[in-house]
Amino acid sequence: MASIFTKIVKGDIPSYKIAEDERFYAFLDINPLAKGHTLVIPKKEVDKLFDLDDQTYADLWLFSKKLARAMEQVIPCERIGVAVLGLEVPHAHIHLVPINGIYDIDFSKPKLKLSNEEFKQIAQQISDALGS
Ligand code: 5GP
Repeated sequence: MASIFTKIVKGDIPSYKIAEDERFYAFLDINPLAKGHTLVIPKKEVDKLFDLDDQTYADLWLFSKKLARAMEQVIPCERIGVAVLGLEVPHAHIHLVPINGIYDIDFSKPKLKLSNEEFKQIAQQISDALGS
């Protein structure tokens, strides 16, 4: 069965999309640790990040780097933290989390509740910064 993220890529499940190309897709985490918490995935459905072929693996990180740079421009934060878990969704993904301290990337803490408008605005801001 297709993963939730494959359904998102196909548009069967909605997402707050930030960017995509032929091979990668970036969108806001629906239960964010911080405003701007972004997930970057390969469209190819592979469970574990380290099982990706070398080219896809390397290019996924390069795609994530562009996202992180754009996020830094529009989300007030010290830096962009990176995490790889995959405990919930078996489709390789990189978490990019704007952080000011280690507590901002503690996945056991309560997640933020954002409105539809807030999600849309943040996704648009990061997307716009990518193009600038
Ligand atoms: P992990 O697999 O890395 O442990 O966690 C998966 C992440 O995906 C979680 O942070 C969770 O909030 C996020 N997530 C799970 N389902 C959805 C979804 O349907 N849409 C979005 N945008 N994020 C999701």
